[in-house]
Amino acid sequence: MAESLPALDLVKDGKPVVVIVCDANPTYPSGGAGKKRERNAEDANRGEAQAASVLVEWIKKMTGAEVPVVSQATEAQAAIWVGRAAIRAGLRLDDLENPSREGLRIVSDGRRVLLAGQNDTATVKAACRFLEELGCRYFMDGPLGEVYPRTRHLSVDRLAIAEKPGLRMRNPKGPSWSGELWKIWNGAGGEAFNHAHAWGRYVQTELFHEHPEYFAMDAQGQRKPGQWLCTSNPELRRYFARRVIEVIRAGTRHPSISPPDGRGYCQCPACRAQDDPHILEPSSGTVSVSKRYTDFLDAVARLVARECPDSVLSFYCYADYTQPPALGRKLSPNLCPVIAPIRYCRLHPIGDPGCPGRLQQVEMIEGWRQEAERFGYYNYMYNLADGTLPFFKFTACQKEFPYLASRGLEVMTLEVLSNWHVYGPHIYLGLRLAYAPDADAEAIMEDYWQKFYGPNAAPFMKAYWMSLDAATLRLKTHAGGFYGLREIYTPEFLHACGERLRQAAQAAQSDLVLAERVALHTEGWKNAVAMREIEEATAQGDFTRAQSVYERMIERLRTLAAKRWANAEYATAYLERFLGKTLQAAARATQPPSRVLQVLPDTWRVSDDEHDQGTAKGWYAESLDDSQWQVVSAYTRTLSSQGHNATTILWYRNNFAVPEKHEGLFLAFLEADGLAEVYVNGRKLEPTVDGRKTADSLAPKRVFFEVDATMAVKPGNNLLAVRVDNRKITELFLGGILRPVILIERPV
Ligand SMILES: [Zn+2]
Ligand SMILES: [Zn+2]
Repeated sequence: MAESLPALDLVKDGKPVVVIVCDANPTYPSGGAGKKRERNAEDANRGEAQAASVLVEWIKKMTGAEVPVVSQATEAQAAIWVGRAAIRAGLRLDDLENPSREGLRIVSDGRRVLLAGQNDTATVKAACRFLEELGCRYFMDGPLGEVYPRTRHLSVDRLAIAEKPGLRMRNPKGPSWSGELWKIWNGAGGEAFNHAHAWGRYVQTELFHEHPEYFAMDAQGQRKPGQWLCTSNPELRRYFARRVIEVIRAGTRHPSISPPDGRGYCQCPACRAQDDPHILEPSSGTVSVSKRYTDFLDAVARLVARECPDSVLSFYCYADYTQPPALGRKLSPNLCPVIAPIRYCRLHPIGDPGCPGRLQQVEMIEGWRQEAERFGYYNYMYNLADGTLPFFKFTACQKEFPYLASRGLEVMTLEVLSNWHVYGPHIYLGLRLAYAPDADAEAIMEDYWQKFYGPNAAPFMKAYWMSLDAATLRLKTHAGGFYGLREIYTPEFLHACGERLRQAAQAAQSDLVLAERVALHTEGWKNAVAMREIEEATAQGDFTRAQSVYERMIERLRTLAAKRWANAEYATAYLERFLGKTLQAAARATQPPSRVLQVLPDTWRVSDDEHDQGTAKGWYAESLDDSQWQVVSAYTRTLSSQGHNATTILWYRNNFAVPEKHEGLFLAFLEADGLAEVYVNGRKLEPTVDGRKTADSLAPKRVFFEVDATMAVKPGNNLLAVRVDNRKITELFLGGILRPVILIERPV
């Protein structure tokens, strides 16, 4: 491109040519990476100091030259002007209209660079954006995620960049992770619209003695001190609003008014009269409480608006108040519903015609849009009960961000587990799209493939990640957990992925950093390989092998966490909780002198029992003809992928063989999702967990348990019948028997 002025040299022969002009001293405590503080938009010194130090550090990484920072320079001097200094030098920001005042501008005219943002964070972002023009990227939090060209000469062409974020708040957050500079660089920031569970902040339980009528009534008609409130009470509404106003005046501009976690809904007649018993929450099948809570929150918001008109009050649309309330009136404009689809399938994008839950979500979002002036979205960027299997929500991100923005989205929280080895690409993509929802997702990822892995390895790594996305989209299962994902990881698919990673490693081998990035993501694939091995060993009843693979996997994940390739806590936390305990219990139960006699087949006869008649009809009896019952796989596939309803009572039947002579015989269930009852040859058996009897002779959900079948069995063929009650949904949407059932012989 023809330029009327030559490019501005920043560094020549490894020596700085420019200075950075900045009012703040870059050694000002900038609270760089690692510090978690609420940023104060007025604290320009802090933003400018951080912006200047980011520029100095990264230009040094690129060139080895340390550009001096000065507080003043002449017009003629070659310089990068930052923040207020840039504005004094002529940079305009006042024309960048946006509600959160986060516009930024970068101008380079061949003589000087001017860069600044409308607030503290935006000024830092402007510095990062400028570095991107010089070829830098920050793809992943930590040194391995830093991409920068190495050169002894650095110059910048004419630039005129103006940007503002597409959403008023972009908030990537997750446990044991701060990543401040990484977040700002890639677009985090905006106004702090708080939306966490909050009622306890306004109505303290000590108030119970004075005003028990403010608190929720339980099903027995008793008021209970706690976080749940009697929201139909007009006096409570006024009290609550006064407390919210106090919190705003104490400095929280946009406080949350979200109900508590859990389901302690008030059962008093006045509150219940607000619910329409015919409107059910589809994710749970129980009566929706959206109307009563939205009515309450709206009343509070109207009272607060009189005193604090600029505060926005957010609340989760969550649990049994996920659906729009149909109040018949527009909500107060200062109210922001934040849709948090915790009970929805995490594998498919919003509006996917093959996914009933995600399809329903469109209706839900449109409904809220009709009642509320604004809304937010809480985006779960990982699987619950995470098995640390590689997961790439490319298509979901590509479709959802522009759709939500087109519906008027203002707030996006991205809940992230910073397990970069399995989620790296979509953590990055999600935040970039939250900043610019209409950006080209494919172009963002093409840039990532090319720069993160280098052009030689890029095609292989792109093929690897895109094959994961495609396989996830094809899945017929709808789950919130990794149980659904295991259907992707067939031996053939794992092999194909392994081949791509091997080719990528070969292509990247001459560059240590690129090779390490391929290695980072190969570690994620190793998780899927290990998980497959564990499942195979489990299916053979070989718990010694299953446990040793598991333990090696945990050890490897800890070394990844130590390198910051995985989250310090959640590299292993879900695995330990959802898999480790089961394997340990199974290994203990089968160690000598016990031994595994048989692993029951994966296939069972199954019938729904929606009206709870199975017990009365004797579905446990040997004589019952179950030949018309559906045959399903228990542990190689989820129920939903077999077209089976998982949120009801299910009866399972199977057979097992018993030898003529034997010691004590025990049936062990590795995992069932639902309260289980077990019958052998028509006889109900008492479940035990860790050798202890359970309440009501029901085995608890998703916990290893046994039944002593010694007295119920006979030589030859035996009938096992299991009733699994999964009417109360869990966020995993699994239901039924999830892992193998084994027959153990144990001397008694
Ligand atoms: Zn009530
Ligand atoms: Zn789905």
